[in-house]
Amino acid sequence: FEQILSDSSLVKTHGYINGEWVVSASGNLFDVVNPATGEIIAKVADLGVVETQKAIVAAHKAMASWAKRTAKEKSAVLRKWFDLVMSNQEDLAKIMTVEQGKVLAEARGEVAYGASYIEWFAEESKRIYGDILPNTTTDRRSVVIKQPIGVVGAITPWNFPIAMITRKVAPALAAGCSVVLKPAAETPLSALALVELAERAGLPKGMFNVVPGLDAPQIGERLTSHPLVKKVTFTGSTRVGKILMAQSAQTVKRTSMELGGNAPVLVFDDADLDKAVQGAFAAKFRNAGQTCICANRILVQSSIYDEFVRRFTEKAEQFVLGEGLSEASTMGPLITRNAVEGVSTLVADALDKGASLTTGGTQPAGEGYFFTPAVIRDLNQSMRLSKEEVFGPVAPIFKFETEEEAIEMANDTEFGLAAYLFTKDQSRSWRVSEALEYGMVGVNETAISSEMIPFGGVKESGQGREGSKYGLEDYLEMKYICLGDI
Ligand code: ADP
Repeated sequence: FEQILSDSSLVKTHGYINGEWVVSASGNLFDVVNPATGEIIAKVADLGVVETQKAIVAAHKAMASWAKRTAKEKSAVLRKWFDLVMSNQEDLAKIMTVEQGKVLAEARGEVAYGASYIEWFAEESKRIYGDILPNTTTDRRSVVIKQPIGVVGAITPWNFPIAMITRKVAPALAAGCSVVLKPAAETPLSALALVELAERAGLPKGMFNVVPGLDAPQIGERLTSHPLVKKVTFTGSTRVGKILMAQSAQTVKRTSMELGGNAPVLVFDDADLDKAVQGAFAAKFRNAGQTCICANRILVQSSIYDEFVRRFTEKAEQFVLGEGLSEASTMGPLITRNAVEGVSTLVADALDKGASLTTGGTQPAGEGYFFTPAVIRDLNQSMRLSKEEVFGPVAPIFKFETEEEAIEMANDTEFGLAAYLFTKDQSRSWRVSEALEYGMVGVNETAISSEMIPFGGVKESGQGREGSKYGLEDYLEMKYICLGDI
């Protein structure tokens, strides 16, 4: 597919360690597949424990030279990286669409969104302040300085192949940390193109290493057990997050976890119905429903339920499924055949237990891992869709009677990432926002993410925040210095 790019040298198939493109000692490769066609588009070096180890040691060495640069110099490198990502936006979007499946318009959007974290943390890197504390005795002074925590091990998913990386790598570099990244095996090309651009921006060797590989448990084990790695940052499933936290405990590493979500959208009968349908719809079907803050359960008050379902269904029927590179497509495939099977099973469970489909829910004939956008009504709490995260284009619409009931249903999950509500009542906005056990709440708005806000969850959706002024803290250690004999 390189011929569709204006700079085909952005397609890299080797790992990147200490400023060198490397293959594995075994010479093993793994396939990268276009989910819209099932075709193999690249074979990438399958690295493992040995290479991860080398990358960690290189990363540790590199930090010393990065520390010799002033904040302004480090900021300039990050800024240059941002500029290069944006000037290659179209190529990066095409690479992403080919390996991940999302339609080109969304891929362009993700490149810009991902780049915004680099720009933001380029700026924030100049704003790492310490503190001078009140004197505890007259002959002493107490100060606090902030220092980089150390080598960062990062593991990222396939649903946002660029943004999930820049959100971690940009603040790490801004804080002075080096990174060893294991990208998802489904989408290594975006990660490798990003590191190529970081190299062109002048990032010193060893500061950002990428270890693509199929054996995630082995690579993850090395990252979480190596004493030189001081922090592990992960975006992915709650199941894997718990494994990584347990492993990290052995060497008491700091962890940041962006795990699963089960976002509810609460639509009250005093809401602007057009806005509510539009907002819930956008939050549901972005990236073909494969987003951790996707509307997972749409809860609608009974008096407007039928009308809401009717309008929502009408919109869902407008989607044009197809390969993301075609400008006519408005929804791409799911990531794998397994993903399609998983989503189908959840739909079948709800239908077996008495829910009904108003549209979609089928697997079209032909190549690629497509699933027609489904809207399901008349669900109850016995169905798997009421509890489990559905990572696909399925909109389960539940009915509620009262505000209390809606809050109870919304909170009845171990997850707590994002929640949304639609109402015109000011006091209800506050009341419900405060009652929702979630890290982020959108009131009359579902496009809530940005590099300037703290993204993250509570409960089993994780810990730590990415983006915003708070995002840098996760990569910094505080040191108290007591100056005596003054
Ligand atoms: P998803 O459902 O998004 O694929 P996963 O949590 O399985 O969620 O995957 C997210 C990332 O975690 C991917 O990069 C994957 O390779 C990696 N991963 C999966 N299992 C493990 C593991 N046991 N240890 C470390 N990383 C893992």
